[in-house]
Amino acid sequence: MMEIRIDKVKLSKLPQTDLTKIPFGRVFTDHMFIMEYKNGSWQNARIEGVRSIPMHPANLTLHYGQSIFEGMKASKNEDGVPLLFRADMHAARMNASAKRMCMPTIDPALFVEAVRQLVSMERDWIPGDEGSALYIRPFMFATDEFLGVAPSESYVFIILTLPVAPYYSHPVKLLASTDYIRAAKGGVGEAKTAGNYAASLLASKEAKQKGFDQVLWLDGRDFKYVQEVGTMNIFFVINDKVITPPTDGAILKGITRDSFLHILKDKGYAVEIRPISMDEVVEAYQNDQLQEVFGAGTAAVAVDVQQIGYKDHLIELNPRKDSLAQLLKKEINGLRSGKIEDRYGWTEPVYEVENV
Ligand SMILES: *Cc1c(COP(=O)(O)O)cnc(C)c1O
Repeated sequence: MMEIRIDKVKLSKLPQTDLTKIPFGRVFTDHMFIMEYKNGSWQNARIEGVRSIPMHPANLTLHYGQSIFEGMKASKNEDGVPLLFRADMHAARMNASAKRMCMPTIDPALFVEAVRQLVSMERDWIPGDEGSALYIRPFMFATDEFLGVAPSESYVFIILTLPVAPYYSHPVKLLASTDYIRAAKGGVGEAKTAGNYAASLLASKEAKQKGFDQVLWLDGRDFKYVQEVGTMNIFFVINDKVITPPTDGAILKGITRDSFLHILKDKGYAVEIRPISMDEVVEAYQNDQLQEVFGAGTAAVAVDVQQIGYKDHLIELNPRKDSLAQLLKKEINGLRSGKIEDRYGWTEPVYEVENV
């Protein structure tokens, strides 16, 4: 495997950072991993200080959007050792996104090793309190300076890390959009690619103006079947059955979703992975059979849904403190902090790297 060169910053920003007051997404640790793709291979892998990157105005990404990312977390166990969670799955999904967007893949072993070395270096940035973590953002974008619509021949891959405070998520209100769609089969909905999020902003803005927090996306053909929420997959509990739509090509294959499915099956819940329509959800609600709705994603783990607007209907739920969503969240956070035994082999400790 390619060697990772390390160029440490002289002065850490950590002493001037109050880890108890960190707004999400704005505070970065001292170092980043970076490598470039040129002449058909990844080159020059290194960890260095976080810095701006000079960019030509004709950079392909700016014009045609070849850009993908991942989002993962490392938290500390009771001995202060950072734990990665399903890093191999994130590496695999990054490569699946890369293939869809005509971008080069990365050796999964290099991806995971880069994350490990960076997390090892930045371990002191991980806040100690339960639920907080280092958010890890690997991403790749095109760097050719060329105004032609064609796959770039050069790319940059970077991993940024950010300390994040425990995410106390309030129950959310969702608007099932019948005006906009997020993804259709054959499109790029399954790829974690930048344009999907740009495409969702107007729908989100309008949903907020109507008093909702986020958009519940429906299928791109008939506005009938449920897909997912902005950055979360969705689960319904109807008549004691846990239902989530199948990832059919237009839905992001969430790793939290997958983890929930494993845990639910292990705990003996009745789980159904099948298309679910808004008509079915409304009917279940009217018959008092809709027990719970929740979102699943790395950032918040699980979020209770308290309201869904759909056409003339307003579904009102009263999420309980001991909801299934909260139970699943506790389970995942327990695995992440090493407090619950990991029978799945999902977590891996990051011990200090010798050469750092
Ligand atoms: C990242 C993401 C998710 C959640 O995936 P996780 O792997 O669970 O974090 C769900 N939907 C979309 C659109 C996403 O970008």
